[in-house]
Amino acid sequence: MAPRILINGAKGRMGQAVAAAAKEMDLTVGGAVDAGDDLAAALAACDVVVDFSSHAATGALLAAAVAQRKPVVLGTTGHGAEEKKRLLALAAQVPCVWAGNFSVGVNLLFALTRRAASVLGSDYDAEVVEMHHRFKKDAPSGTAARLLEIILEERKLGAEALRHGREGITGERTPTEVGIHALRGGDVVGDHTVMFAALGERLELTHKASDRGIFARGALRAARWVVGQQPGVYDMQDVLGLK
Ligand code: NAD
Repeated sequence: MAPRILINGAKGRMGQAVAAAAKEMDLTVGGAVDAGDDLAAALAACDVVVDFSSHAATGALLAAAVAQRKPVVLGTTGHGAEEKKRLLALAAQVPCVWAGNFSVGVNLLFALTRRAASVLGSDYDAEVVEMHHRFKKDAPSGTAARLLEIILEERKLGAEALRHGREGITGERTPTEVGIHALRGGDVVGDHTVMFAALGERLELTHKASDRGIFARGALRAARWVVGQQPGVYDMQDVLGLK
């Protein structure tokens, strides 16, 4: 039987995109809740929850899912490092797909970034630039955060290597720093560029999203996949078989 899907953050841009994509994909939406609604009651009537809400809501969402042993697809971004650690321990108690970006193209960008960071080595300065619509509340984006994580992993660097924007007399760029720049404006759904710049050449890997339907369809694909999985935290690479 097709799983009944609960949409959390249903009144938001992504919540509405998930509802539209579910119709398109012939999936059953069993409930739709937003801030102030009775999440536990709605969850009891569904088989899986798809969440695009607020980072402040993730703890309560995961606690409800754990209490009812319901699988979760978590798309919300903006969690701090400590907050995320705590939430991951909770998420691991149920089958949970947690992805900062549910698009297939971006997940390929993650794989290409890992490869480029490894082949090009530290002589190629790595910088990430992202742009999103003027309403976005967190920065850098979850996708940019994941791209940075990949570069740091490949270069064996810690978070202190990150430079969030630059201003003033910064001195020359050091070989170990990794820059991140967040642009905001208009209705941009999501652009990400990873740059590797050396003396004499520059490689740029760019993904541009023009319709948030790609995230919604990916999240619903994850919802179908996660029902029946063992408890644990998965990502979109697992869902797409890219690992
Ligand atoms: P939005 O502001 O349009 O919508 C968020 C909705 O969540 C609002 O309707 C708000 O009322 C609701 N909300 C707030 N607190 C809540 C709570 N406690 N319980 C239930 N609902 C609550 O934002 P958006 O553009 O739809 O994005 C939502 C989140 O999804 C953001 O964190 C964004 O970065 C993330 N996002 C992730 C992906 C991805 O692929 N992972 C893609 C796009 C957006």
